[in-house]
Amino acid sequence: MVRLKNYVLDGWREGAAPFRSLVDPATEEVVAETSSNGLDFAAVLDHARTVGGPALRALTFAERGERLRAMSRALHAERDRLLTVAMINGGNTRSDAKFDVDGASFTLSHYARLGRDLGDARVLADGPSEPINPSSARFHGRHVQTPIRGVAVHINAFNFPAWGTFEKAACALLAGVPVVTKPATSTAWLAYEMVKVVIEADILPPGALQFIGAGVGDLLDHLTGQDALAFTGSADTGALLRGVPAHVRASARVNVEADSLNALVLGPDVERRSATWDAAVRNITTEMTQKAGQKCTAIRRVMVPEALVDGLVEDVTEALDQVRVGDPRAKGVRMGPLTTAGQLRDYREGVARLCEQARIVYGSPTEVEAEGSEGRGYFAAPVLLVAEDGGQPGPVHDHEVFGPVATLVPYNGSPEAAADLVARGKGSLVTSVFSDDRRFLAALLPEIAAWNGRVLVVDDKVADQATPHGMVLPGLLHGGPGRAGGGEELGGLRGLGFYLQRTAFQGNRALLDELLG
Ligand code: NAP
Repeated sequence: MVRLKNYVLDGWREGAAPFRSLVDPATEEVVAETSSNGLDFAAVLDHARTVGGPALRALTFAERGERLRAMSRALHAERDRLLTVAMINGGNTRSDAKFDVDGASFTLSHYARLGRDLGDARVLADGPSEPINPSSARFHGRHVQTPIRGVAVHINAFNFPAWGTFEKAACALLAGVPVVTKPATSTAWLAYEMVKVVIEADILPPGALQFIGAGVGDLLDHLTGQDALAFTGSADTGALLRGVPAHVRASARVNVEADSLNALVLGPDVERRSATWDAAVRNITTEMTQKAGQKCTAIRRVMVPEALVDGLVEDVTEALDQVRVGDPRAKGVRMGPLTTAGQLRDYREGVARLCEQARIVYGSPTEVEAEGSEGRGYFAAPVLLVAEDGGQPGPVHDHEVFGPVATLVPYNGSPEAAADLVARGKGSLVTSVFSDDRRFLAALLPEIAAWNGRVLVVDDKVADQATPHGMVLPGLLHGGPGRAGGGEELGGLRGLGFYLQRTAFQGNRALLDELLG
């Protein structure tokens, strides 16, 4: 069994007892343990601010980008070992594990490229220099962005220990801000191994990256107005962390990525077995089963024209029949277990809640055939439901079941009705629209944009080329309004904004240009 340590103050430190156990969700065997008890969290923050921050700010964007490139390469070199850890502690199939681990190295290399393109600058220009006094050609104003002087605290959810850790770190480090990162305890082993790879490769300056392998103790009480807290997890924890009195008073920056009832809208024009239809079926099935549906971006609600419901149920059912559930290490298994006993309990209770408004047309929350499980493990079956009265308020639009579950919501085929249903999710990370009807799309897309951080539009021209609904891309925004947390991450250079202070400078144009670059 592995005992995880914390990487703080430039050294590996073991927490004090009691330790928390990490399990293999396919066997329920304890595989690791971790603790952060006894750490001096105020000293951790101070170290980041006084050692890591100045060292990172001394580097140019291009030099920080080189560090990200080296991190990406070092992680890729250890890929097979990391995938194995994800399969053991995360219940991931190899394909799920790649989605997480490769997502981390890919995002790092994307930001490495952006750093290279920014070159020798240390200050990010924000728009052109502009005259502000009509009677003076010299007196100008311009905006620039510089790194905040504090620390980036990252708290992540259990489902993406690799990608979650490094997509956040890539933005903060490129911006020039030191990171204290904390994965969810239940799956912390993978993040721990990855941080270890980066530290052992000696890529980052001292104090630039610290790792806490369990709870954060009183760390949040020490945040100041120059610090930034980026959180991913449940809406309840997000609300709690947003309201920590010390950092509310100090106006510390807070970004929340939380629950989301993402949607797919099928247009009334889409014919069964067309390229657009098949792409919709593929996406629904993938989103239900990849990582056993434990993805913040997974499709939870499918808005389908009434006349197309039976055909869609038939085709999704047929596709789900091909998904073998079981020990993710067994050959041919396409869906592993849920990650913890708590997740399994929440999934069962969640499906029961959905049944207050919908009926199950495929699968069962209590019965699952899991290959190689021998009666152990947190396995769950894919469950598809139909909510005939899904136009009414209810759990379908209000309760996220974080597992292999989706609900079809019939609608009358009008863009207005589809937009109304999307909005009932009260804010989502992503909605996908599958249609070849331009008039339908023209009416729908502007209506749903304000309810979503990202919208994927699939017509027959891109049906075979589109990236999957749930795939977050470093160049595009990740985050969503309302229920989804109201946060923003990634989106290329936009992702750095959270760690940079925008300042308006006024003065002699030539002087400002010389001093600010
Ligand atoms: P969670 O229970 O809210 O935990 C998230 C993180 O917060 C964990 O690292 C947890 O640490 C930490 N935490 C919990 N209470 C805390 C406190 N009082 N102070 C400081 N940290 C605290 O969520 P989860 O079960 O890991 O994740 C599932 C949820 O995340 C789902 O609802 C999903 O929708 C959402 N999610 C959203 C996104 C997105 O990008 N929008 C991505 C992934 C997941 P411990 O593990 O040590 O308790």
